Amino acid sequence: MNQGFIPTSEAVYRLIQEFNKLPSIGPKSAQRLTYYLLRAPEEQAKLLAEAILQLKQKTMLCSVCLNVADSDPCLICRRDDRDRSKICVVEQPQDILALEHTRIYNGLYHVLHGAISPTEGVGANDVRIRELMNRLQGGSVNEVILGTNPNLEGEQTAMYLQRLISPLGIRVTRLARGLPFGTELEYADDVTLTRAIEGRQEF
Ligand SMILES: [Zn+2]
Repeated sequence: MNQGFIPTSEAVYRLIQEFNKLPSIGPKSAQRLTYYLLRAPEEQAKLLAEAILQLKQKTMLCSVCLNVADSDPCLICRRDDRDRSKICVVEQPQDILALEHTRIYNGLYHVLHGAISPTEGVGANDVRIRELMNRLQGGSVNEVILGTNPNLEGEQTAMYLQRLISPLGIRVTRLARGLPFGTELEYADDVTLTRAIEGRQEF
């Protein structure tokens, strides 16, 4: 909070503090959002509050792909027009959103909920690799597309998975070729992502 800030309203102060905890929102933006809502119609503030609550109360993880969903299995896992022989492995649920937006990929997904990072103490058991290996046991999957981020952690995770999956006789491809190193999938534009999916290579 800015030095010299005198909270004349506890409610205003509290909301500024809550906004300030969010990523990429600094103290100035937190204040701007709070005063914006203060002036906005009560209905708008109510809708925002309800949306935040529902986010926590009405969502769950799909027990198959571990994506965030309103139902289990999720809509993607349930659809019978998806190609069940392909699984694209991503780090976070928001990566699925980015890939689905391109409309070029028609297979299934698997969310790791992180990436292996020895420097930060994140090992293979800290991400959802065991669940992925269980899914590969059935024999119906013939390609795993590694869609981890093209940065150090993503590459390490991809290499680890490649060593684990290749001996099963399943084709392993890497999505991120063509994506600039150091970027994150969720921020890649549609054209770059589409090229990355179409141009995926053996890994
Ligand atoms: Zn699912």
